[in-house]
Amino acid sequence: MTSTTAQKPTCPVCHQADQVKTTQAAYDAGVERCAPPDMPTKNVPLFLPFLLCMVFVGFFVFAIVILIGSEATLSLAFQYVLVGLTLICIIAALVVSYMAFQSVVKGDAEATKRFPAWDRAMAVWRSLYYCARNDVIFDPKTNKVLSNEELLALRSMQEDRAEQISATLVQQQ
Ligand SMILES: [Zn+2]
Repeated sequence: MTSTTAQKPTCPVCHQADQVKTTQAAYDAGVERCAPPDMPTKNVPLFLPFLLCMVFVGFFVFAIVILIGSEATLSLAFQYVLVGLTLICIIAALVVSYMAFQSVVKGDAEATKRFPAWDRAMAVWRSLYYCARNDVIFDPKTNKVLSNEELLALRSMQEDRAEQISATLVQQQ
């Protein structure tokens, strides 16, 4: 324990190191403000509509099979409507699955695009320390205390804001 305390930087506010921990350690200890930047994720919002389409297709195909099999006396118009509805559902399912596929590809590309920013934000975040006595997050290289806005920007990875912050942190070295 004493060996790790020796390596810790001193807090720029209280100038002591005994309450200083890494942002990771602070976050693990339940300090929400020390949360790491969110990893870019892909979302597939069209999964539910796709599932619904498939259920409808299944239902209509089932209905057709039952009605044909039972030799029920159905008007021709009704059969046309049933077949028409089935076709509409199949086409809708195809369209939705195509859109879902497109959004997965797009989400993938966006996540990939955001990864470098997340990487940089993570690198900055890892270099930060937290002082439990003053409840401040600071950069040991510059002895600069980060404001809430800077932390939020870092976490949300607004591309240019995160770059601005790392740039200011570097400039102040
Ligand atoms: Zn302190």
